[in-house]
Amino acid sequence: MIQDVLKQLGIEATNKGTSTGSDWFGSGAEISSSSPVDAKHIAKVATTTREDYDKVVETAQKAFKDWRLVPAPQRGEIVRQFGNKLRELKEPLGKLVSYEMGKSLQEGYGEVQEMIDICDFAVGLSRQLYGSTIHSERPGHRMYDQYHPLGIVGIISAFNFPVAVWSWNTALAWVCGDVCIWKPSEKVPLTGVACQKIIADILKENDMPEGISCLINGDYKVGEFMTTDKRIPLISATGSTRMGKIVASTVAERLGKTLLELGGNNAIIVTPDADIKMTVIGAVFGAVGTAGQRCTSTRRLIIHESIYDKVKDAIVAAYGQLKIGNPLDENNHVGPLIDTDAVAMYQDALKRVVEEGGNIIVEGGVLEGEGYESGCYVKPAIAEAENHFDIVQHETFAPVLYLMKYSGDVENAIELQNGVAQGLSSAIMTNNLREAERFLSHAGSDCGIANVNIGTSGAEIGGAFGGEKETGGGRESGSDAWKIYMRRQTNTINYTTELPLAQGIKFDI
Ligand code: NAD
Repeated sequence: MIQDVLKQLGIEATNKGTSTGSDWFGSGAEISSSSPVDAKHIAKVATTTREDYDKVVETAQKAFKDWRLVPAPQRGEIVRQFGNKLRELKEPLGKLVSYEMGKSLQEGYGEVQEMIDICDFAVGLSRQLYGSTIHSERPGHRMYDQYHPLGIVGIISAFNFPVAVWSWNTALAWVCGDVCIWKPSEKVPLTGVACQKIIADILKENDMPEGISCLINGDYKVGEFMTTDKRIPLISATGSTRMGKIVASTVAERLGKTLLELGGNNAIIVTPDADIKMTVIGAVFGAVGTAGQRCTSTRRLIIHESIYDKVKDAIVAAYGQLKIGNPLDENNHVGPLIDTDAVAMYQDALKRVVEEGGNIIVEGGVLEGEGYESGCYVKPAIAEAENHFDIVQHETFAPVLYLMKYSGDVENAIELQNGVAQGLSSAIMTNNLREAERFLSHAGSDCGIANVNIGTSGAEIGGAFGGEKETGGGRESGSDAWKIYMRRQTNTINYTTELPLAQGIKFDI
């Protein structure tokens, strides 16, 4: 099956990993991409050398000069065609995402659907890049602000959303008039090659110059080519908080802009008024979906003591139903972790929670035997723990769920929920209006995403996506997230024959 998929997407046994569009080159060391599904080697991708990188940037700089002059709705038209091509290729691209990354087939298709949705959003946006008009204090003056393209946007993405995160950035950046250079995660280079081929064809069909969409490949060192490069005004980086801190300081050193989408430590508060059935579905999907490898995965359940045992029993029973195995088989709920390093981190977290005084109530473990040869399949685990445990304070990118109790008012639960360094996604399960509104108020959740009667996991394209604190503060996708891809300019025009100064200042000469 995978051979057909690779053929449809133009992936060869060995691929160049550097591209400015139709032009593919790159002479760096090769990355061998293998699947966590069955440990089989899929194909190789050559990484980007410094020399290759400089060629990419020079081509992108030239392309920007043309692209910024293409009217925004015409740029939107290119993005519309890209979205349509993705509709045609949803099946093979979704399968490649699923096979190379290890997420379920449904989630692989879902990721491509997110790409299609952001293209639709960006097409509409291409006619709505509004500035505002401000009434001037000076007579006979008009004042307004407008948004201009920034230049080259450098996109660094994580392994767990190999294609969607790129499109969230790039579809908006393109309609804003920017050109993009993308460095996918070194763990999933093939999905990057496949996406670049799709957009390169569209750009060629429209006679657009090389350099509007560029691809580079490699590990953090190739990422650093961009973060240290003054020619790249904006770096959008998705990944761990550890990476984000390095990228933020490197880019700040040269006074560049960053859009950071980093780790989460997401909780669901379950109050005495919660619908238990909905809670169980939301919490279990949130904790084990994508094998706990979503930035919005549910890590903590903060349950009122009066319903603690009931909720705990229902969740433990649901875990008993989970089927773990090949994510391309739609009967399975949980696929593999990305690699054996991730498995080691999962095992370490389970060891540490016990050392800190936690109580494991659903045992974890690494699966062996037929179907589990990659060594990346683990059992979703649950531990009763305290919020202050060091391990609970950290994001473990695996299916480990921590249960904790709160007593008294919902304020106590909100305090626990906010009592971590990260601030991405949060949720409350309640039918009590006062509790829900309290949670959403300025004295409530401190996260970028706060949901009522929905889990923490997953998001819609229309809303701005991102989080506070150590999640990095960036916003991508919907709402007015597009503004980060543009520079704002305030313009004042005097249409009189006088030159009045602002604040009534007199300057007679
Ligand atoms: P990672 O930090 O290991 O790597 C992410 C990307 O950063 C990779 O492309 C990597 O090569 C690059 N990189 C690493 N160090 C760099 C450096 N010093 N300079 C430049 N580039 C560098 O993350 P990962 O393991 O691929 O992904 C998992 C993490 O991503 C989790 O913490 C998850 O929560 C987070 N994530 C966040 C969001 C979000 O929107 N907030 C979305 C997806 C994933």
